[in-house]
Amino acid sequence: MSKEISVRTPSRRVLVDITDEVAREVNGDGTWMAYVPHTTAGITINEGADPAVARDILARLEELAPDDADYEHAEGNSPAHVMATLVGSSVLFAVENGRLRLGQWQAIFLCEFDGPRTRRVELTKVGG
Ligand code: ZN
Repeated sequence: MSKEISVRTPSRRVLVDITDEVAREVNGDGTWMAYVPHTTAGITINEGADPAVARDILARLEELAPDDADYEHAEGNSPAHVMATLVGSSVLFAVENGRLRLGQWQAIFLCEFDGPRTRRVELTKVGG
C-alpha cells in the first residue's frame, strides 16, 4: 500500500513543510514511511514552528558542503548530493486515531537542494 505526493519546490535550496500534505494522504493507523526517491533532495523531521530553524539547518549544511569546494562529479550539483545524504531519504512516523503523532513543534520537511523542481514523496505503511 503506497501513496505519493508531488511537491513543487520554489527555489534552489529550501526546506518545504509537507506535514499537511502527508496528513491528508495517510489512511490507517500504524507506522508509515515517507521516502524521497531523489539524489539531490531529502526528507527530515524537525521544528516547524519557527521557520528560522529550517533556515539555520540549511545554512549549516551549506557550510558542510560548500559550493566552492573541490568535487569530482561533473554535473555541478555535488553539494546537493552531499546534503541529501546528510539529511537522508526517508523518515518514519506514526499515525494514531487518523492523525500524525508528531511532537508539538515537529513538522515533516522535504529538503530541496537542487531546485526548483517537482519532487515526489512516497508514503508507505510499514508492518501490520
Ligand atoms: Zn549530480
